Amino acid sequence: MTESATIYYADDTDRSAIENRTVAVIGFGSQGHAHAMNLDDNGIDVVVGLREDSSSRQAAEQAGLRVATPSAAAAQASVISMLVPDTVQPAVYEAIEPELEAGDTLQFAHGFNIHYGQIDPAEDVNVTMVAPKSPGHLVRRNFENDQGTPGLLAVYQDPTGKATDIGLAYADAIGCARAGVVETTFKEETETDLFGEQAVLCGGVTSLVKHSYETLVEAGYSREMAYFECMNELKLIVDLLYEGGLAEMWNSVSDTAEYGGLTRGDRIVDEDVRENMEATLEAVQNGEFAREWIVENQTGRPSYTQRREAELDHDIEDVGAELRELFAWSAETDEDDEKAKRNGVPADD
Ligand code: NAD
Ligand code: MG
Repeated sequence: MTESATIYYADDTDRSAIENRTVAVIGFGSQGHAHAMNLDDNGIDVVVGLREDSSSRQAAEQAGLRVATPSAAAAQASVISMLVPDTVQPAVYEAIEPELEAGDTLQFAHGFNIHYGQIDPAEDVNVTMVAPKSPGHLVRRNFENDQGTPGLLAVYQDPTGKATDIGLAYADAIGCARAGVVETTFKEETETDLFGEQAVLCGGVTSLVKHSYETLVEAGYSREMAYFECMNELKLIVDLLYEGGLAEMWNSVSDTAEYGGLTRGDRIVDEDVRENMEATLEAVQNGEFAREWIVENQTGRPSYTQRREAELDHDIEDVGAELRELFAWSAETDEDDEKAKRNGVPADD
């Protein structure tokens, strides 16, 4: 079974759904600063909700935004956007819950807490998600460059019948509608997001890198060569996939690389790995992973802390740090890269 999603663009949105409302943006981190500043630039009345002792207060005030505590911000607003880290959202929600009124809209950028029942809003509150498919600094930068950032829209509950209109107007005002807003559900967004980061983006890729590095080094090859082959060059391949899919990647590598990849890829990531992927997806779907992560947070993150330390202790980190020192030009900013590309010169010229 294959399904195609509905995609909304700017013409499908009507800004008036949020124009006369106050939007409380709770949190001023990666997503929070971008949503708050883009909404504000679009003339929407914004109040940022932060703890009294939050280190982000100064930045929000310097951006010319009104700042209040999360509960005071929620009290002033009829759209409340939850942009603190997912693990602290349930506690922050407890503080703002008394301020939610019938017909208010509780807005998220990720579905975890709603989907797994960690936040359970009253039935008379709209619950929406507008999730840019990009880190916050790019949401802001694209907006400043008059470009869009693709995003997702989901509606979990809609007692007012206006949740979709409000979500689309919000998506438009932070700059997503210009690039396209894909309709999804809290369940689909949460489960695909967790699976993707576990199987490929964060878990799968780092395991491939480490196992292949260890295989070369244990066979007697130099750590430097193993680092370049198994970690550094990954970026070149990912860029090709990003720009032009499988076709552009296979077209750009040598015929030997293509034949080797086409014949060996499925031996490395074989049927057993596919079954592991299915089991990983099942643990996301049945809530096992969510329960494990919630308990981990409630008990001071022992496993997380230990695994994180072990990861950074890996030999590839030492050799990688040394080698990256030697080509510090790779740390140039994206802007410099873009400028260099336009001028047709390397970024360090
Ligand atoms: P972040 O970690 O960058 O932002 C944290 C903000 O919350 C800061 O302003 C901080 O002051 C505040 N905060 C931190 N701890 C707090 C606490 N204990 N109490 C109150 N406030 C606290 O968060 P983020 O990455 O912007 O994530 C926000 C939401 O956006 C999450 O639901 C996340 O899943 C989602 N999201 C993030 C990205 C991304 O690329 N970062 C992309 C899409 C969606
Ligand atoms: Mg994600």
